[in-house]
Amino acid sequence: GSVITLQSAEGATYSALDAMSSWWCQVHGYRNPALDRALAEQAARFSHVMFGGLTHQPAIELAERLVALSPEGLNHVFLADSGSISVEVALKLAVQYQSALGKPERRRFIALEGGYHGDTIGAMGVSDPAGSMHRDFSHLVTSQFFVPRPPAARYLPQSDTWECDEAEQMQWEETVSTLVGHYAQESAALILEPVVQGAGGMFFYHPRCLNHLRALADEHGLLLIFDEIATGFGRTGRLFAAEWAGVTPDVMTVGKALTGGYLTQAATLVTSPVADVISNSVHKALMHGPTFMGNPLASAVSCASLDLLTGALPADEGYPSSLWSDQVPVIGENLHRVLAPARELEIVQDVRVLGAIGVVELVQNVDIPAVTECALEAGVWVRPFRKTVYTMPTYISSPHDVERIGAGICSALERVYG
Ligand code: PMP
Repeated sequence: GSVITLQSAEGATYSALDAMSSWWCQVHGYRNPALDRALAEQAARFSHVMFGGLTHQPAIELAERLVALSPEGLNHVFLADSGSISVEVALKLAVQYQSALGKPERRRFIALEGGYHGDTIGAMGVSDPAGSMHRDFSHLVTSQFFVPRPPAARYLPQSDTWECDEAEQMQWEETVSTLVGHYAQESAALILEPVVQGAGGMFFYHPRCLNHLRALADEHGLLLIFDEIATGFGRTGRLFAAEWAGVTPDVMTVGKALTGGYLTQAATLVTSPVADVISNSVHKALMHGPTFMGNPLASAVSCASLDLLTGALPADEGYPSSLWSDQVPVIGENLHRVLAPARELEIVQDVRVLGAIGVVELVQNVDIPAVTECALEAGVWVRPFRKTVYTMPTYISSPHDVERIGAGICSALERVYG
């Protein structure tokens, strides 16, 4: 289920609902019988084999599922061992692509301020340089181009529309058009988290920004890379956040919920035109080949995870369903309701919900130890950061679970700041 038992350093034991899905990945809950079984069955066959010159059924099936589920046109899959590595692969292939087209000078990247793409050196380079996590490593990181992030937007579920400040949005589009024009000749790709910037503050922006960036990428011969590691697999209320805008990126990275949080695996998907250029380049292949690429245990669990998400595999009897299209809208509706009381607190600046993401933003940085402890005492595990206390419940969460999560967050904020 979604309940974890935690022990503090002082020896106190807490039974808590995991309101974080273990950093967005454990969407089917812990000890999901279908995933346990997929893992055990694959372990009984073979656990690993090199993925160079060889392939195997779990990886083939996983690639087929990813191609079928992802936005139209993403037909090729590179299996990576973590989200950060899938981003490195996306960056490397973009450079290799431009080089194969006779443009080796196009080797830098354009990213959004406030973005986050991982902790390895290349991924750090395209993550917001002002983020404190990466500041000490600036001498290692290649300097990239940053453009302002889009203005904040709000999704209105009743009318299925988005709302933002029109003047601000137009201004952003203009600024970004100019900047991308300046940077394009030196750049291989645009990279961004579509619709939701996660580590950059659980920030939501209007999907039409994706259409604008798609047009700019096409105009300037840039690849468009969507990092869907956090947003993918239903979290934002669409299977992929790209679907909010009906945009297909040239490259897309996925991870986190892919394995249901059981093992470390991610993937980089590309369109056929991009794959063809790489395959016809001097190297004939993408220059990346990690030892655990396509790991069979991870691939088998990922297949089962995708099947549970889409309903191709029914939940085991007695275990709740994690079919995203049923669960995420209900979780979202309930999050709206249960987080609303937080608006009454003076310390709270904003409450926002998109899909199965609920965010309470304060006017100042959160007192993390105090809020974490109060929430734990209310039976809820959250991990606030910067100004936000947020939740991404598991997809098996019942309305009652979501009620508990909302009550836990609101009561913790009241106790610490009320
Ligand atoms: N991109 C995004 C948008 C992420 O949220 C994360 C992880 N928090 C990553 C990349 C990096 O993934 P991993 O932690 O699996 O390396």
